[in-house]
Amino acid sequence: MTDQSPTPHQPRPSVGVHFKCCNVYINIYQNQAGTAYTGHCPRCATPIEIPIVEKGGSSSRFFTDS
Ligand SMILES: [Zn+2]
Repeated sequence: MTDQSPTPHQPRPSVGVHFKCCNVYINIYQNQAGTAYTGHCPRCATPIEIPIVEKGGSSSRFFTDS
């Protein structure tokens, strides 16, 4: 294996989400466009998308599906 210079990459922001459907908690990550956090329930695959609001407002970093 060659030792290449490390590629600078920023870890994508994540948020914790509680899925009420299956009562599970996971972290989901920003999509590539950076417009929303997207993920799905690890048990039943229910998708979730949390739009990212750029302007100030809620500082909460925890969400639940609805
Ligand atoms: Zn579920």
